[in-house]
Amino acid sequence: MSTEGAELVIEGLSKTYPGGVRALRGVDLRIPPGMFGLLGPNGAGKSTLMRTIATLQDPDAGSIRLGELDVLRDKDAVRRVLGYLPQDFGVYPHLDALSLLDHFAVLKGITARGERRAVVEALLHRVNLWDKRKQKLGGFSGGMRQRFGIAQALLGDPRLIIVDEPTAGLDPQERSRFLNLLSEIGEHVVVLLSTHIVEDVADLCLQMAIIARGQVLRSGEPQRAVDELRGRTWKKVIAKDQLDEHEREHTVISTRLVGGRTVIHVFAEDAPGSAFEPVDPDLEDVYFTTLAKAA
Ligand code: ADP
Repeated sequence: MSTEGAELVIEGLSKTYPGGVRALRGVDLRIPPGMFGLLGPNGAGKSTLMRTIATLQDPDAGSIRLGELDVLRDKDAVRRVLGYLPQDFGVYPHLDALSLLDHFAVLKGITARGERRAVVEALLHRVNLWDKRKQKLGGFSGGMRQRFGIAQALLGDPRLIIVDEPTAGLDPQERSRFLNLLSEIGEHVVVLLSTHIVEDVADLCLQMAIIARGQVLRSGEPQRAVDELRGRTWKKVIAKDQLDEHEREHTVISTRLVGGRTVIHVFAEDAPGSAFEPVDPDLEDVYFTTLAKAA
């Protein structure tokens, strides 16, 4: 069955954990090949969704298809075309990068020694860890560990790649290196990136969904969502103690400190009054407006 260029289609996916938390409530999503950002606050249900797509746990209801594959039934077939970088990617600290990647390659079914060596070496070059291949994973920085994580996720030429909160805890330079690496993955592969960092999606994704409390609040092209806010986003510099009254009178979508001053962004169809200036909206405005409307 071919999964080349296949879409990931999720319908009516629900999951309630034994404690009663409804982590997913009827999630519907169409995810085309390319980089797709799943954006939501902590606790939104992102990891639950990612683990379910990665065949690691079952939902209570709903379906997931990758092209012709039934993801919830044909788990072995999905695992053959899946690359997964989990949120808590544990490494064996005493093994060096070359040995561990070789080990993962065996697990992925690349048993011919010559082929495996070529694949492992090529991946270490690709993620820029070739010079560190003899170093033990325990001494790796967060960014190096995540790049190693991508190398293992790319083993076996996957058609579906899932990366769960990959930039959390990376410094800006490591983050940018990591995102560049992700952006080089082929456009015919579904790459699902979950994050609570709006910039990750703005920088990288042609398609996205915003999820909160187990529900998809909106999905589509980030740029289109930003365009919808144009002409309806206003900013004002205020004193900190004026925030409460502004929140009472306006739809405040974000509060940022800029150079030590408090800058609020407000959503309104028309100019909300004196001292407000129109502002060019960005994806963060979209994100906070979407969350505010759903609250
Ligand atoms: P996110 O990845 O967006 O932070 P999660 O999918 O990790 O969200 O969690 C969604 C909700 O489900 C949270 O309220 C979380 O506490 C709860 N949850 C996650 N995993 C479990 C679990 N194994 N057992 C019980 N509750 C869980």
